[in-house]
Amino acid sequence: MIVSKFGGSSVSDADQIRKVKAILESDERRMIAIVSAPGKRNSEDQKITDLLYKCNSLVQKGLTCRPVFNEISKRFVQIAQKLKIDDVKLSERLDDIRCNIDAGRGADYTASRGEYLSALIISEFLGWEFIDAESVIVINSDSTVNDETYKRLAAKLEKGKRYVIPGFYGETEQGVVKTFTRGGSDITGSIVARAVNAELYENWTDVSGIYRADPRIVKEAEVIPELSYKEVRELSDVGATVFHEEAIAPIYSSGIPIVVKNTNRPEDPGTRIVPESNDFGATGVSARGGLSRIRLRKLMLFKKYGVRHALLTMLHVFGIRPCYSLFGIDSIVWFFDSKMASDSVCQAMCERLRKEFGLDSIEVDHGYSILGVVGDGMNDSDAYLKATEALKENSIKTVFVNYGSSDTSVLFGIKEEQSAEAVKAVYDSLF
Ligand code: ASP
Repeated sequence: MIVSKFGGSSVSDADQIRKVKAILESDERRMIAIVSAPGKRNSEDQKITDLLYKCNSLVQKGLTCRPVFNEISKRFVQIAQKLKIDDVKLSERLDDIRCNIDAGRGADYTASRGEYLSALIISEFLGWEFIDAESVIVINSDSTVNDETYKRLAAKLEKGKRYVIPGFYGETEQGVVKTFTRGGSDITGSIVARAVNAELYENWTDVSGIYRADPRIVKEAEVIPELSYKEVRELSDVGATVFHEEAIAPIYSSGIPIVVKNTNRPEDPGTRIVPESNDFGATGVSARGGLSRIRLRKLMLFKKYGVRHALLTMLHVFGIRPCYSLFGIDSIVWFFDSKMASDSVCQAMCERLRKEFGLDSIEVDHGYSILGVVGDGMNDSDAYLKATEALKENSIKTVFVNYGSSDTSVLFGIKEEQSAEAVKAVYDSLF
């Protein structure tokens, strides 16, 4: 059996959904479809999920979501009309949802409605059974998958039947709707693929696979034919957005192969993601921006037992979870997602740390990217040296290097404004 997940661009309008139908019906092993909310139809368009989050912010500010929700309604009504679907009580459902959003059901419920309506319409169009993700996917408070999920899926899914399941959300153990992070339908697809021990998990999107570098930066970048689980996880972590970095976790131990394919060009082979790859050395390069840096110093800092832990605990109090770290004899450097803390929060945190730990200095600055060169066997390849050389030749200063902590990547911290240039330079030197 094949589990097929279709991303937002694959279900953005009626014509795209017709392509989805053709794909699903062209191979009878495709039994379960996981769908996203309608995404952008063109570059000026808005994703339904973004509009839903906007609705929630309006309500948070004490305003009604009505004007933005009308745009959402229009999109769904248009899709349903074009697909000639009138059996899903769409206008009643839309009214209900709008009332719930206005009544303050919160961000997770609101955002999840895009996938919910999309799956209802598509299941009707295909004549496949709809399963509400809320009834089968249980999400822990740290956004990991609760094992109860697999029991529920096993009880619900009958052999020989075809299903459509909305991606991106489930419920908490307490029965409250909860979403994964953005792009989380990939995770739902993985969960379902594992639950049914699928022979293949297909991830349908609007590009013909995962590229060696972002093709908006490197026009000639090629599609990677095959990647390992580890490689895809590392590549997504440094900004390759095609496959959610947490989506490998549910199927990690199952060994189920994944293929990333293009809904608009189904004949293209796409990228296969397999447990282990036979290819060693660099497979891709990517950069993730939007990072800030904390630098702190204190003479004999590490003399005190457990100081790292104590400092990190304090960072967590201010909502900061660093993603990369460096330790010197008397100093620490951490990088974190700038969205985690405003300037005033950073300032308050620095003051508190300085006082409580008697620091000699502490400062936060912004505008960094992490550039990752990814490939299994990285420690035995010359990719690190080549990448360093390319950065040097292009006068790109590195403020951080992480080599050896993983055999699948080498990471460089650079200034964000040099990201594109750095990706291009490293790509040219490696591929
Ligand atoms: N619709 C959600 C998003 O835009 C989830 C997904 O598409 O996977 O992030």
